[in-house]
Amino acid sequence: MPAPLWQGQGNVAFPGCAFMIRVSSGFDSGNISVLSTEQADDIRLAIRQDTRSPHYQWFHFRLSGAKDVPVTIKLVNAGGAAYTSGFKDYRAVSSADLETWRRVPTEFDGKVLTIRDTPQADSVRYAYFAPYGMERHAALVARVQRHPRATLEVLGQTPDGQDIDLLRVGEPGDDKRAIWLIGRQHPGESMASWWMEGALDMLTDSTRLLDRAVFYLVPCMNPDGTRRGHLRTNANGVDLNRAWAEPDPQRVPEVFLVRRRMLETGVDFCLDVHGDEGLPHNFIGGFEGIPSITERQLGLLNRYTAALDQRSADFQTEKGYPKSAPGKGNMAMCTNWTAERFGALSMTLEMPFKDATENPDPEHGWSPPRCKELAVACLEVLEGMLDELR
Ligand code: ZN
Repeated sequence: MPAPLWQGQGNVAFPGCAFMIRVSSGFDSGNISVLSTEQADDIRLAIRQDTRSPHYQWFHFRLSGAKDVPVTIKLVNAGGAAYTSGFKDYRAVSSADLETWRRVPTEFDGKVLTIRDTPQADSVRYAYFAPYGMERHAALVARVQRHPRATLEVLGQTPDGQDIDLLRVGEPGDDKRAIWLIGRQHPGESMASWWMEGALDMLTDSTRLLDRAVFYLVPCMNPDGTRRGHLRTNANGVDLNRAWAEPDPQRVPEVFLVRRRMLETGVDFCLDVHGDEGLPHNFIGGFEGIPSITERQLGLLNRYTAALDQRSADFQTEKGYPKSAPGKGNMAMCTNWTAERFGALSMTLEMPFKDATENPDPEHGWSPPRCKELAVACLEVLEGMLDELR
């Protein structure tokens, strides 16, 4: 005889009988596999790999049925993730209202990432960083396109059939600088989307910059990876930021289409916005390795990063990636390809998953409001350099 339905599921008629703990990820940008949720102090989960790619690290799941119950959540395959240095001194984020994401106690022993929390609500979410899914992207585009000086252009479709959105803010003109801002080539780096939202808010609040420049923004280069909860790749398992040299229109239409549009508009400035798993800093990667590097281009790069260092307490120039020797750069990356092709000031902005140790926030770590503030700082520094860009 089957057990009565209420058994083990909790029931108001049986106070003290806890609700069953459930974990799910069947939603926009969700990622988790459930191994066991029977014991609150030993919830065992695993992060799913990207489609047709061995990469994984992004996680985002909902936990329900554990209000006021201390839980221990173990991501048992964390030791095989793409960038395990990212889990050192790292704390996961959690939210009950899907607005504010706070840090929760997290440990990593080299194999298992353990999250300890006592949920304050019937349902809470946990994630690698404050998520930014395709529904929020759609709401952002819907809001921006209503601005009188903004235009939405759909460049084409992804392998999953999603639109690749380009927002233009301002009008092209011979004396206008062409500014390209792209985010989320790597879908697990949701801080890039928060940065893009901050940039779009600024450009649509104050149109001061638009008299001297036209802005082309791709807030989400990788809609499929974002919706699928990938770390690194699109639906075909391609890392977009290793595909700029010769993008195949079938395998990686995202890069093919954006690149083609760049060739039409020209590029005076490009900022490709990312997150770095390992380093607890904001930093900029340049294009020192391109074959045609010039003193002028290097001077622009140095002046931009120095000015941003002055402007933002969250930014620094000491820590970052090693610089490539001239001619040794990977030309399949956006920054190198655009710097070489257009002679432009082109940069990769990296934000931390953890925190910016120059200016720490113990409760939230690096967070959506801080991504947005950094976007404003980046655009203000750009404003001061517009005349130099050509
Ligand atoms: Zn990245």
